[in-house]
Amino acid sequence: MPRAAPYQIRVADTEYSYFCEPGENILRAGLRAGIGIPYECNAGGCGSCKIELVTGEIEDLMPAAPGIRARERKRNRVLACQCTPLTNCEIRTRVAPEFIAPVPSLRFEARFVASRDITADIREFVFAAVGPSCFLPGQYAVLNLPSLHRSRAYSMSNQPNKAGEWGFMIRRVPDGLVSNYLFDVLKIGDSIYIEGPLGLAYLRPHTSRDIVCVAGGSGLAPVVSIVNAQQSGEPGPGTRWLFYGGRGPADIPEFGQLILTGTPTRVHTSVSVAALAAGAGWRGDVCFVHELLERNLPAPLATYDYYLAGPPPMIEVLVRMLVAQKVSLGSIRYDRFF
Ligand SMILES: Cc1cc2nc3c(=O)[nH]c(=O)nc-3n(C[C@H](O)[C@H](O)[C@H](O)COP(=O)(O)OP(=O)(O)OC[C@H]3O[C@@H](n4cnc5c(N)ncnc54)[C@H](O)[C@@H]3O)c2cc1C
Repeated sequence: MPRAAPYQIRVADTEYSYFCEPGENILRAGLRAGIGIPYECNAGGCGSCKIELVTGEIEDLMPAAPGIRARERKRNRVLACQCTPLTNCEIRTRVAPEFIAPVPSLRFEARFVASRDITADIREFVFAAVGPSCFLPGQYAVLNLPSLHRSRAYSMSNQPNKAGEWGFMIRRVPDGLVSNYLFDVLKIGDSIYIEGPLGLAYLRPHTSRDIVCVAGGSGLAPVVSIVNAQQSGEPGPGTRWLFYGGRGPADIPEFGQLILTGTPTRVHTSVSVAALAAGAGWRGDVCFVHELLERNLPAPLATYDYYLAGPPPMIEVLVRMLVAQKVSLGSIRYDRFF
């Protein structure tokens, strides 16, 4: 069967236009074309990639997406990360250089080659692709499972490498479609498609400030990748601080096995459910992870750079607390896992 021709997407009031294959996502095709369309989660949750559809028709892939209101839809607003063109289109959006991908984003096939359990419900999945795996520590990719016709964003847990390996630490979400499929159905040797790298919460190594990584639950992968980042010969931050919170002791990984030797990292963990802590004889902190920062960081909070990952409510509490402590927004980078 002949392949359908790509559609042309013009960005109103700019000189930009790009091609988007039928079935492809308007946001990610634009990012791949080097156009800085604002975005964050790629999952329909944050609303950062809201655009105006000026002309043309699209298919909305997530009609109940929480990132957009019904009255915005009535004003021809759509989420670029959740729509695919049905005709040539003209869209109106802000375009800004900070959203241009620092490493070109690609879509490629990858084979499931290995896995290991990290906690009671987090497993690392490793996929191998042809060609080197190019990304910046802290970034994520969209995993597309052809047999499920679904895709989800997952952050890379490993380092960029020539062998073409892409590692992801994925939490099994109760009743979650994709995470349970990965845990229970995907077999070694099966193929998926990876689209990436994506995301702006990547390590900026050129700083003299210590970096502080904070994660809860499924936010483990990007902070492990960041603290393990090697900057051979490059100036980089001194100590890395890693704060990680779970509900109970079974959620806390063995960090000694995740952090590469020689990485100057201080790890502090906490659990938030007192009954789970008591039941397992936990001797560490029982509190929310954001409460660990002031207790353990020796200098004022405003003197560090921050990388945060995890559930949106955790990120919102952390950002509010940091800003209240005079940390500038430019020193805080985060991915909210919608
Ligand atoms: C930028 C980014 C990076 C991420 N990185 C990671 C990572 O590194 N590791 C990781 O584990 N996760 C990560 N995530 C989260 C991940 O993308 C998925 O959201 C997560 O794995 C859940 O997907 P799922 O298909 O298993 O669950 P889903 O099927 O999407 O369900 C999610 C939840 O919603 C509930 N639900 C589903 N459908 C309904 C319904 N109709 N009504 C009511 N409730 C419903 C389910 O019970 C479940 O609790 C990231 C997300 C983002 C945005």
